[in-house]
Amino acid sequence: MLRLNNVCARYNILDGYVNAVNDMSFSVMDNEIFGIAGESGCGKSTLLKVMYDLIGYPLEISEGFIELYAKKQDGSEKVYKNGEIRNRRWKEISYVPQGAMHVLNPVRKIDTQFYDTIGKSEKKMGKKQMHDRIVAYLKELELPAEVMKSYPHQLSGGMKQRIMIALATFQSPSIILADEPTTALDVVVQRGILMMLKGVQKKIGNSIVIVSHDLGVHYQITDRMGIMYAGEMVEIGPTDELFKNPRHPYTKMLIDALPRIGDISQKEGIAGTPPSLKNPPPGCRFAPRCLYATDMCREVHPKRYEIGKTHQASCHLLDGKYPVIGGNKNA
Ligand code: SF4
Repeated sequence: MLRLNNVCARYNILDGYVNAVNDMSFSVMDNEIFGIAGESGCGKSTLLKVMYDLIGYPLEISEGFIELYAKKQDGSEKVYKNGEIRNRRWKEISYVPQGAMHVLNPVRKIDTQFYDTIGKSEKKMGKKQMHDRIVAYLKELELPAEVMKSYPHQLSGGMKQRIMIALATFQSPSIILADEPTTALDVVVQRGILMMLKGVQKKIGNSIVIVSHDLGVHYQITDRMGIMYAGEMVEIGPTDELFKNPRHPYTKMLIDALPRIGDISQKEGIAGTPPSLKNPPPGCRFAPRCLYATDMCREVHPKRYEIGKTHQASCHLLDGKYPVIGGNKNA
């Protein structure tokens, strides 16, 4: 559905570059929910912007390319690369940005915001027909038609988030990118939003990429997930397998820090902070915080290893135990 090929992206900050995404290679498959996890500042949101082709100063792609595979009506496939993907927005690929509930225009009613957004790509559809289709779609998502005549400030945070998801999914895009869709919502509303996303994915049969720092969110909703650290994907695999058998020390530490029902032990955070992305260290970027770090870890960047058909991790501890994945500078 979407493939990243050795993609590097960076911010031009005049006195240098912040290398927010480094040598990223992975695919998002048809009909799956793919999660991206990692602590704040690790490059998750930048990666999502890159996937959405939201490139513009100061963000630039310095290496690699992205491919979006879109199915045409006759069943054949057309491939769009970065630079072209932006022309496929809403119909083929859509994006729910971070803090989406705050991006609705405060001085325009919800119906106008739907017309403004959808009207650009549905030029032949009359206003009445569009209105009826939007109301019918909101009903399918169990949202009241009355919201159409509301201003954003008249709606709760959870409702605004649902409206944004409805807007992003109205044209049944093949892939939806959602950046922290449950942040700042209480757990009950959070669950409602996650179930809504899952329901939409099942109904349309498309793919969703969901970025969240909350591993609990990934556990509930994703089929596969990738763990990012300091601009790199350090582990990727099926969600169940990653939780049961994490192979990268960072993934393991993140999972161990999760609270569990009945467990009253004091949870330890991960000591230290991620390195600067302006001048990242030459070896493993996690080395200053890793309990297993050796001199080699501090000097040599780890390769990427194939633990299983769909499970990969980058760590020197896996050296000699699993095959190295080739064709990637990280690998
Ligand atoms: Fe830790 Fe070394 Fe593995 Fe990095 S490569 S995660 S420092 S053991």
